[in-house]
Amino acid sequence: MAIWNKDIETMPREKLEELQLKRLQETVNRVYENVKPYREKMDKAGIKPDDIKTLDDLSKLPFTVKQDLRDNYPYGMFAVPMEQVTEIHASSGTTGKQTVVGLTEKDVDIWAEIAARALSAMGVDKNSVVQTSYGFGLFTGGFGAHYGARKIGAVAIPTSSGNSKRQINIMKDFGSTFLCCTPSYALSLSETLVDMGFTKDDIKLQGGAFGAEPWTEEIRQEIQEKLGINAYDIYGLSEIMGPGVGYECADQSGMHINEDHFIVEVIDPETGEVVPDGSMGEIVFTCITKEALPLIRYRTRDIATINKGMCRCGRTFARMSKPMGRSDDMLIIRGVNVFPSQIEEVLMKTEGVAPHYQIIVDRINNKDMLDVLVEVSNKDLTDEIKSLEALSKKVSAEILSVLGIKANIKLVEPKTIARSEGKSVRVIDKRQLH
Ligand SMILES: [Zn+2]
Repeated sequence: MAIWNKDIETMPREKLEELQLKRLQETVNRVYENVKPYREKMDKAGIKPDDIKTLDDLSKLPFTVKQDLRDNYPYGMFAVPMEQVTEIHASSGTTGKQTVVGLTEKDVDIWAEIAARALSAMGVDKNSVVQTSYGFGLFTGGFGAHYGARKIGAVAIPTSSGNSKRQINIMKDFGSTFLCCTPSYALSLSETLVDMGFTKDDIKLQGGAFGAEPWTEEIRQEIQEKLGINAYDIYGLSEIMGPGVGYECADQSGMHINEDHFIVEVIDPETGEVVPDGSMGEIVFTCITKEALPLIRYRTRDIATINKGMCRCGRTFARMSKPMGRSDDMLIIRGVNVFPSQIEEVLMKTEGVAPHYQIIVDRINNKDMLDVLVEVSNKDLTDEIKSLEALSKKVSAEILSVLGIKANIKLVEPKTIARSEGKSVRVIDKRQLH
């Protein structure tokens, strides 16, 4: 697979870190001058831009959290006058106000560049036909993939999400070779393909970039097998830059972070302290080239590890593991920390159940109850009820052994759990309703 920007992506780490420090110092100066909330935070912490003398000094700077963006809604964190802003995006606010992000022309160019690096690493070149079934709109998913594909010189098809039959027809008729969407939508499209009477041999897809929701290795295998492609992980968040902040190479051993534009740290989510290299913790990004919204030490809530070792692909950029979940998504059930991804892993390893499930947590008589709804896979439908009981006991026992808590397993018929066209709703926590 090609390396889009070899000089940068394979730069010796020492040189890369020099570049990062120079850009960090410029950025900290710039936000101190131009962004009032940052100046106030730094003054309060007793830090001046000149105090940033090494990369380690970054840890002296205060964190930025989503609430800061809400408090300064909509444009209060922007570091440039509005006349320089050329694009606005926003992340869906499930609670409270949306978080609004702005990009200058140069920011959009950098976004296209990092997305081009990502797609190239996954095999996209100018002969590729890239179908983007992420939503286009205020969400950054669609545009990131689109700009990256265009930059490479591939054919970019912005189908956006939804209307699965039309997606499959376009895939067939336009000869799409590469698919960008959420992993759950990729699985859903693989079902539509079969429902329409086609097989993976009827389409030309070779690869896909999937992200915007957590997914496991088992889901990767499933997508690869059902669509006959290589499925790669892509990472991004609108506050930082959208898809392309991190990307997998052919080695599929973690997502390379575009470290010439973003400095990555891992912290203990409880204490805020930086953890030793290689330890699990919350991922924190600092933007060091962004003009409109250069966030400093932005807490992503994603829990993962960072590996700074050299990759077999030759890239020197650090690699981030698949996030095991968001610290926000972490459920505390009967005092036990549970990530939905851990339950998904159990389900994926159990024969007889399909990778479509819903987790429902409730509190009844002051006791947390965990229900897992999961579809039986097609081939087992003819089995007798007795063996379905055995199946649900098996799943329950597995969950008990992995998580140490008991779950009520409710097996349901195939295709009864709603399919997502974007981010799937897999966890319903009813405890907040009481
Ligand atoms: Zn690599």
